[in-house]
Amino acid sequence: MASIFTKIISGEIPCYKIAENDDFFAFLDINPNAKGHTLCIPKKEVNKIMDLDEETYLGLMAFSRKIGRALEKAVACKRVGMTVIGLEVPHVHVHLIPLNDMKDATFQQKVAFTDVEFKAIAESIKAELLY
Ligand code: AMP
Repeated sequence: MASIFTKIISGEIPCYKIAENDDFFAFLDINPNAKGHTLCIPKKEVNKIMDLDEETYLGLMAFSRKIGRALEKAVACKRVGMTVIGLEVPHVHVHLIPLNDMKDATFQQKVAFTDVEFKAIAESIKAELLY
């Protein structure tokens, strides 16, 4: 069965999309640790990051860096942290989290946004990708 993230890539499930290319896709986490929390995924559905082929792994890191640099400009933060967990969704994803405090990295404290706010955050990150 297709993962929830494969369904997001295909458009079957909606998301707040940031960017995509032939191999990778980025969108806002729906239950964010902090404003701008973004997920970067390979379109190829693989459960665990350590099982990715090297080309996809390196491509995912390069894609995540590009998105992370835009995120760092779009959202006020000390830095953007990168985490891979995958205990909830069995489709490789890199969490990019704007960090102001260690609590932002813990996945214990969540922040809520309205649909309008999520759209505005996504647009602000997309705008920084243009430069
Ligand atoms: P983990 O697998 O533990 O790395 O966590 C999965 C992450 O995916 C969590 O931070 C969820 O909030 C996020 N997530 C789950 N479903 C969706 C969705 N439909 N759209 C955006 N983010 C999601």
